[in-house]
Amino acid sequence: MSLNFGREQVLIPGPSVVPDRVLRAMHRASPNIYEGDLISLANSLYPDLNKIAKNSGDVAIYIGNGHAAWESSLTNTLSRGDTVLVLISGRFGRGWMDMAKFLGVNVTSLDFGADQPADPDRVKAVLASDADHKIKAVLTVQTDTASSVTNDIQALRSILDEVEHPALLMVDCMASLGCEPFDMDAWEVDVMLAGCQKGLMTPAGVAFTFIRGEKVWAAYEQASLKTPYWDWHRRLHGEFFHQKFCGTPPSHHLYGLREALDILIEEGIENSWHRHQVMASAVWAAVERWGAVSGHLACNVQAIPHRSLAVTTIKTAEGDGNRIRRWCEDNAGLTLGVGLDLESTLGGQSASHFRVGHMGHLNPPMLLGALATVDAALKALGIDHGTGALDAASAVIAAG
Ligand SMILES: *Cc1c(COP(=O)(O)O)cnc(C)c1O
Repeated sequence: MSLNFGREQVLIPGPSVVPDRVLRAMHRASPNIYEGDLISLANSLYPDLNKIAKNSGDVAIYIGNGHAAWESSLTNTLSRGDTVLVLISGRFGRGWMDMAKFLGVNVTSLDFGADQPADPDRVKAVLASDADHKIKAVLTVQTDTASSVTNDIQALRSILDEVEHPALLMVDCMASLGCEPFDMDAWEVDVMLAGCQKGLMTPAGVAFTFIRGEKVWAAYEQASLKTPYWDWHRRLHGEFFHQKFCGTPPSHHLYGLREALDILIEEGIENSWHRHQVMASAVWAAVERWGAVSGHLACNVQAIPHRSLAVTTIKTAEGDGNRIRRWCEDNAGLTLGVGLDLESTLGGQSASHFRVGHMGHLNPPMLLGALATVDAALKALGIDHGTGALDAASAVIAAG
């Protein structure tokens, strides 16, 4: 019998749980978009977004999703025929790469497989052999949301410095901003992009490109792919408020985002990173116990330092990933993330993975409830698994 009653829980890796405070802030009539509160509220977002990214530069805000931020980052810095180096650790680098190709940019890519971060030596070899600096930018994700691999961004910065390569370092933090340590200034990231619907706890609809330093603005001057809608300069320095959004602002999203940033700043960004570390570790502890018997249940990423703090991809025997998800959703009102086919860019799913999103607005009862529900699914479905998963997860929470 289904026990699906009460508040539904969606723990997918974006969109994430939206706090009631954010929902309440959005529940209002349409505001005046020409003068008054909305203008000052919008202006207050820029410094706080930069605070979260630890960025002393600029941030452009768009009505859009992660794909929008991809397009913004490429069109503002590149020209048709330029070359970029794309680092692939799953699926999302590939999506960004396909967009660059569509725009007429030449792409060199390094694919590190379905469960490994970028290998510094391979990146170094490619950059070192690019003596005339044809490569204009290195594109990488911080966390790949399909594989749940996390890249060491600081290490990539060091490689660019070591080989004295002037390429821009562009980082996709869609899944990780607010969840995983990131320091745009200290790590000298040139361009970073994110959206509001993952670590920033706001319904999908607003995307960001963070911009830092003279080098990016020099690239902007040269870039011939610029178009009016994505153009950074007008968004940041337009004479009129409506130029900040190239038209009507996403008014309700701005109210929601204001509240979400307040929540994150009240918690403290370092505290949020720590909370994500603990939550992620609790998931890994449970998975390790489940997998102790058959070896079929395991974290996709083996090395702990390479694991995302925002999402965990769990490998299962063929077909079990789907069965576990279906059972949790139908019988318990818990929605988990589908496994994504790590070989394709468009839509493909994998029946032998599922994902637990643990990003954003999440506390121990929400997470432990979800892990206990997966534990029940394994029992109900007769999937061979080790015991003690909840014990291991709660021990991690207890240690804090
Ligand atoms: C979610 C995500 C995207 C795509 O975002 P959309 O809002 O679906 O366009 C891109 N990159 C990463 C790393 C993501 O997690």
